[in-house]
Amino acid sequence: MSVALNPVRSGRLTFPFGVYPPENKELSVNAPIEVLPTPKRVDIPLLQHTGAPNEPIHIKPNTPVALGDLVGQCDAHVTAPIHASIAGTTTLGAVTTLPNGRHVRCISLKAEGEQLEGRALWEDQFGGDWPVSGLEPYAPVEIVQAIRRAGIVGQGGAAFPSHIKIAAPKEKPVETVLINGCECEPYLTADERLMIEAPEPVISGALLVQIATGAKNVIIGIEDHMPQAFEALRRAAQGTAVEVRTLKTKYPQGGEKQLVLGVLNRVVPTGGLPLDVGVVVVNVGTAAAIARAVLRRKPLTHRVVSVTGKGIRNPKNLLVPVGVSYRNLVDYCGGLTGDAARLVAGGPMMGFTLGSLDSPVTKGTSGLTVLTHGDLIKSQETSCIRCGRCVDVCPLNLVPTKIALAVRAKDWEWAGRFHIKACMECGCCAYICPARIPLVQLIRTGKALLPK
Ligand code: SF4
Ligand code: SF4
Repeated sequence: MSVALNPVRSGRLTFPFGVYPPENKELSVNAPIEVLPTPKRVDIPLLQHTGAPNEPIHIKPNTPVALGDLVGQCDAHVTAPIHASIAGTTTLGAVTTLPNGRHVRCISLKAEGEQLEGRALWEDQFGGDWPVSGLEPYAPVEIVQAIRRAGIVGQGGAAFPSHIKIAAPKEKPVETVLINGCECEPYLTADERLMIEAPEPVISGALLVQIATGAKNVIIGIEDHMPQAFEALRRAAQGTAVEVRTLKTKYPQGGEKQLVLGVLNRVVPTGGLPLDVGVVVVNVGTAAAIARAVLRRKPLTHRVVSVTGKGIRNPKNLLVPVGVSYRNLVDYCGGLTGDAARLVAGGPMMGFTLGSLDSPVTKGTSGLTVLTHGDLIKSQETSCIRCGRCVDVCPLNLVPTKIALAVRAKDWEWAGRFHIKACMECGCCAYICPARIPLVQLIRTGKALLPK
């Protein structure tokens, strides 16, 4: 039995194990969200969520579309429609490459006509009143349908269609809605800024999810390094059933299972979902998008992202249209520094190294982190010294070293016995490994090669 490096300490909510990478959030946490000027073009992937890809609505090129028009949909149950994120005209037959290297069809829009921009766009997304009482007339089915129509997916990274998550089956009653504001990835500050600058739609969305699921409790969990966000949420939630709780700052506190364990002390079974223990987890950005979808009938067209890291000249938090290229973001933030070495879609622990700056931002994109040569660990991979540290930090109690060995040996039965599919790819094991073994890359590769 391995010894925990960082067991739960009394008094602060958290989960066992995990790691403490440098947060580096100071680079962008004090940068208020700016609205990115309308780009000349967006490439909106027809598949940017877990589930079936969409088919384009407009089959003729040069069709004019307005902001928010439906441009892709599909009849499948597990899917999410897509909408125009700028006003423009369509280009068909386009293909784009997602940060994970997958090539997907997309709707390309060339910006044309009058655009909603600047303060007006901000007001359209987050401004005005967001009711926190009198929401009872909204029926659960109506809320779920509005979420589906708006194409809302989890904005925390997994991009799972939210209408499926929220329409829990009757045999699995929901007791608690957990709103995830932990944003535990180093560098990223988009959720934190959203909670500070637009807490009201987050609270409205949380209450709507409570109605849709029939949950008794709604709790927002945020890490304890975010006092401004805590205060903003607490103020916005006054007089409502929404409770705001702080958790110990630790990676990966924002993982769904770790959040459920930290806040409620419930263990989600291996291979299971929070729903198996009566919980639905929704990211703060997703909650705000749900409020907008239900209360204002507006689709998901924009999201907040962080553009950060020591390799970007002016780190910022930006409100951007879905489908804008990473190149646009880099240019708007003043370009790369001379020692920029690696661009990561998302944060450094779970993100994907970008192969091309032309890849588009999707609904699940949380940010762009630009690392410098100084940030990258240069030591070479050596042999496993059987120190057991990877086991000690794994928040899911897996044995990463054994899974990696099984993948190297292409022994899929062995990999299965060590629960390769249960790995959430959090990267704690690779982060701590003194032999610099690329444990997560091996596990990712193994999952892709597993016989179906
Ligand atoms: S095995 Fe998977 S879940 Fe465990 S620490 Fe490694 S990446 Fe995270
Ligand atoms: S894989 Fe790395 S962390 Fe795990 S036992 Fe081997 S040397 Fe230690």
